[in-house]
Amino acid sequence: MPRPVQILDDALGAVGNTPLIRLDKIAKAEGLQCNLLGKVEYTSAGGSVKDRIAKLMVEQAEKEGKLIPGHSVVIEPTSGNTGIGLAMACAVKGYSVIITLPNKMSLEKEAALRALGAEVVRTPTEAAWDSPESHIGVAQKLQRQIPGGIILDQYRNINNPLAHELTTGPEIIEAVTATPSTPAKPSSRMVDVIIVGAGTGGTITGISRAIKKTHNPKCIIVGIDPKGSILAYPDALNTDDAGKLYIVEGIGYDFIPDVLSRDPKDVDHWIKTADEESFEAVRKLMRLEGLLVGGSSGSALSGALEWLKSEQGQKIAQTKGANVVVLLPDGIRNYMSKPWFLKMALEAEPSSLAKQIAHILKDN
Ligand code: PMP
Repeated sequence: MPRPVQILDDALGAVGNTPLIRLDKIAKAEGLQCNLLGKVEYTSAGGSVKDRIAKLMVEQAEKEGKLIPGHSVVIEPTSGNTGIGLAMACAVKGYSVIITLPNKMSLEKEAALRALGAEVVRTPTEAAWDSPESHIGVAQKLQRQIPGGIILDQYRNINNPLAHELTTGPEIIEAVTATPSTPAKPSSRMVDVIIVGAGTGGTITGISRAIKKTHNPKCIIVGIDPKGSILAYPDALNTDDAGKLYIVEGIGYDFIPDVLSRDPKDVDHWIKTADEESFEAVRKLMRLEGLLVGGSSGSALSGALEWLKSEQGQKIAQTKGANVVVLLPDGIRNYMSKPWFLKMALEAEPSSLAKQIAHILKDN
């Protein structure tokens, strides 16, 4: 069963356990023989892959006696989704929350955070990570001055990659190994390739550990990093566009977080992606597969398709039954007011059906 069947104690019981879904129409349109599979994280309770780390970071801090209900104030710099997960966990458990959020992040994320009872402080997007004005700098300043203030710190907290090593990775392995191979849908029953975007890097590092340690040491892990960010390895991949601002939220940084492993043993290849191709891939996921995913899901898909066309990827792309998994981190509900989405949804060329409707209504 994709979902727990028993009554859950609280919203945190509905974190994770997300579906792995075939992307057959996209695979066909791209001429792929392999299975293209999407790990769809927007079905998690808070709407993203980051619920998993929020839940584990809070639970572990509680175990270590670092959180006191009615006293502790959880402060976290985030691109929003970790904040939403934390605000959800803290609403359930009774802790106050302050989220520092760069200006570029969507109004939808801020509204969800405030609705969950969090305070939100906006910070300049262009501030360098180690400047006092950045979302990280402001969080540190608040923590120094607010009694009970604590930063769980997703950039350094081992429970960030661990949450994915313990849940996201094993769920993917379980879905792939539990699904039989049939003549109509052949499967190697292994995770052969996985493509994951990096922000803090917790998702890619944790999933890589789970798969390479316990399932398939030869699985190829492909990291996705937006142009303008410096996370990709080797560094030469990043030089052309370093520092350029980009619109996609949640992936890329101007520093290397401690929880990201850039070791080629953990992440085999990196692909750099641009906004436009990410948004085009979001459109494909919606139109062809009915999946209401967010911008970084488009980055992951466009990077996946680019890698499958590359010298290393071509062979897998043409191997029947090879399983290529794309991690889709959040949903479009986080981005409904963003110009890139409104343009895609509302300013598309009228379809023949739309023209037919207009014609009928005009005649009446
Ligand atoms: N996509 C979105 C929408 C996100 O919010 C995040 C988290 N920053 C990521 C991708 C990347 O996840 P991670 O921090 O684990 O690298």
